Amino acid sequence: MISPPIEIVEVSPRDGLQNEKTQVSTADKVELVLRAVAAGARRIEAVSFVNPRAVPQMADAEAVMAGLRGARDLRAEGVRLAGLILNRRGLDRALAADVDEVNFVIIASETFNRRNQGVAIGESLAQLQQSVALCHGEGLPISLTIGASFGCPFEGEVAVRQVVMLAAQAALLGVQEIALADTIGVADPLAVECRIAAVQAVAPDMPIRCHFHDTRNTGIANAYAAWRSGAATLDAALGGIGGCPFAPAATGNIATEDAVYMFNRMGVDTGFDLDGLMTSATWLSQRLGKALPAALGRAGNFPDASHADRRWA
Ligand code: ZN
Repeated sequence: MISPPIEIVEVSPRDGLQNEKTQVSTADKVELVLRAVAAGARRIEAVSFVNPRAVPQMADAEAVMAGLRGARDLRAEGVRLAGLILNRRGLDRALAADVDEVNFVIIASETFNRRNQGVAIGESLAQLQQSVALCHGEGLPISLTIGASFGCPFEGEVAVRQVVMLAAQAALLGVQEIALADTIGVADPLAVECRIAAVQAVAPDMPIRCHFHDTRNTGIANAYAAWRSGAATLDAALGGIGGCPFAPAATGNIATEDAVYMFNRMGVDTGFDLDGLMTSATWLSQRLGKALPAALGRAGNFPDASHADRRWA
């Protein structure tokens, strides 16, 4: 069997930073994105267009996008910058800021959706419908991320049928991709297989992306299960930084370097340069003033240059 490649979306500039207490400067956010590009990232969730009072770290989203557009022609390098939105208001800002793709989020549980987006799921779906129509008019790809697809901090278990209902509606509306997000890090590999299969059953041609938080140490196993189940894309954050301001105790995303290491070892192409990622993780760690959760940062790559002349024959 030839192993299919896996695409990794670098989400540290958005999901990663938004939960960091240290306010990161606009210039450092721009540098983080450019470092991810240099390490091989071709899809990057650069910013979110949400209420700055709720998520102060993303208040400079327009300035970050302007900084990136001014830095150089990333489109010519095949790089797509995504903006996360929760509603039509966010879409207007995303369009004005010149993103390459839009990531609309609806949470699978009613309570969490009301807390995170401030409206009922039905209202979010109505706003998604308008947003898809507008994006189609602009020729802009739009994906739907289904938050809390594996469990909710307020309601507990989330039914598969609820995830499938949202996926089916999004497919009908014409989104280009559906993401299953384990916002609070409670998924397990079999739940990943089960939910991906259920979504594939109602939307057979829909590209699936998965978004895992490593809150309970299942993140990398879930990433493997997603790839085996046919997910084309994974979200990951440099250093494993991240969280969710509205999900108590949620920790970081799976670390990009840890995921790239695993797929590299399996001979699966990610398009990333691991040494470049690790150098940038060290830079990010210095900027945030703390050690980052990624395992590669502690253990290092293998084999590294020191092993080159010591082969076991
Ligand atoms: Zn997340």
